Amino acid sequence: MNLSERDLLYNWHPYTQHKTAQFHPAIVRGKDSLLWDENGNEFIDAIASWWVNPFGHSNQVIADAIYKQLTTLEHVLFGGFTHDKAVLLSEKLMEILPSNQKKIFYSDNGSTAVEVAIKGCLQYFYNKDKKRTKIIAFEDAFHGDTFGAMAASGISLYTEAFKSSLLEVVRVPIPTQGNEQKAIEILENLVKTDDYAAFIFEPLVLGAAGMVMYKPEILEKMITICKQNNVFTIADEVMTGFGKTGKTFASDYLHIKPDVMCLSKALTGGTIPMAITTFCQEIYDGFYDDDIDKALFHGHTFTANPTGCAAALASISLLQTDEMQHNIQRVNASHLAFEEKIKNHPKVKTTRVLGTIFALEIKTKTAESYYGTMRTKLFNFFMENGIIMRPIGNIVYILPPYIITENQLQKVYQTIENALEIV
Ligand SMILES: *Cc1c(COP(=O)(O)O)cnc(C)c1O
Repeated sequence: MNLSERDLLYNWHPYTQHKTAQFHPAIVRGKDSLLWDENGNEFIDAIASWWVNPFGHSNQVIADAIYKQLTTLEHVLFGGFTHDKAVLLSEKLMEILPSNQKKIFYSDNGSTAVEVAIKGCLQYFYNKDKKRTKIIAFEDAFHGDTFGAMAASGISLYTEAFKSSLLEVVRVPIPTQGNEQKAIEILENLVKTDDYAAFIFEPLVLGAAGMVMYKPEILEKMITICKQNNVFTIADEVMTGFGKTGKTFASDYLHIKPDVMCLSKALTGGTIPMAITTFCQEIYDGFYDDDIDKALFHGHTFTANPTGCAAALASISLLQTDEMQHNIQRVNASHLAFEEKIKNHPKVKTTRVLGTIFALEIKTKTAESYYGTMRTKLFNFFMENGIIMRPIGNIVYILPPYIITENQLQKVYQTIENALEIV
């Protein structure tokens, strides 16, 4: 049996109906933008392995930092102790985060970063004996798969089975072009009621919804409305963080900053699972008390794992090089040129680009479901052509490692053009 066959004996994969699922290729090696399977087939990783890997696979700088840390101090508990890498990483983050972010809380993955953000906002009001127990979120949002994050998420496929056990969340339409006024009005009416602790959103781009984009000006308006009504704002930058949108954070496009930010995916350059929730001073102060009951009783065994912190420090240093910043601009320019070329294609409904993110919606006669037949046909076509992409329904997107070469990018574009002929 090969690896793919042995895999099926014991492994239960995420988001997978094993009865109808296709074969899972076994990847055995990665370098830069390329991955190789057990049969020696080569693939371009056009989605940076679920948006985690901006600097390429098997990056030497990050690998060296991890090795050094593993042989110096691989882990120490963060409850009651600290270590140099957490101190250094928090200091580094303070240099690059919006200036209102003052406190850093470490965890392990995007969902837990969201849990911490939501718990921080809910308990802030609880500590003050105020009854603000509900959350506001976008329709079609995705914030992760743990219970709090799932409650905030709006894609029913992921949450329907657990609906009766979830925190109360009220939804606002995504303020895409034409929906801005409606979204603002609904938000304004909600925040009047004193019921809400926080508004959580994916800033400027909703990833899992299909790279749905909206304008910074409208988000600034929504944040302002929340601030005027004492509702905290949480920017879930798990997908958008660390350069994806062309700036370090999507929140860098905003003049009015969110109170809380969630970071994970590209934090360690796709090496070690780690996440961060950052808070403004006001929320931290709401826990700061002589009474231990007012503390944030949340923690994970591997909180602020030193090896993860070392990987994050190396990743951020890579992101800050001129070379990487140039790569981000280059990928953006190539995306814009391809968008110009493809947007009037008869099978293309819309296209959108922000930073290193490109998305194209294919015209369909009927609504395409998330994991529908078009998606599978496209996925297989890309794999046959040596490209790893995960279309979402009828939406094809590219979110490549920033170091993808121009030739590789052109191959991805050409394959998308060819794919339009088979759907
Ligand atoms: C992926 C994602 C999450 C969840 O992160 P996990 O590490 O998969 O738990 C949360 N929010 C956004 C915006 C994401 O893209």
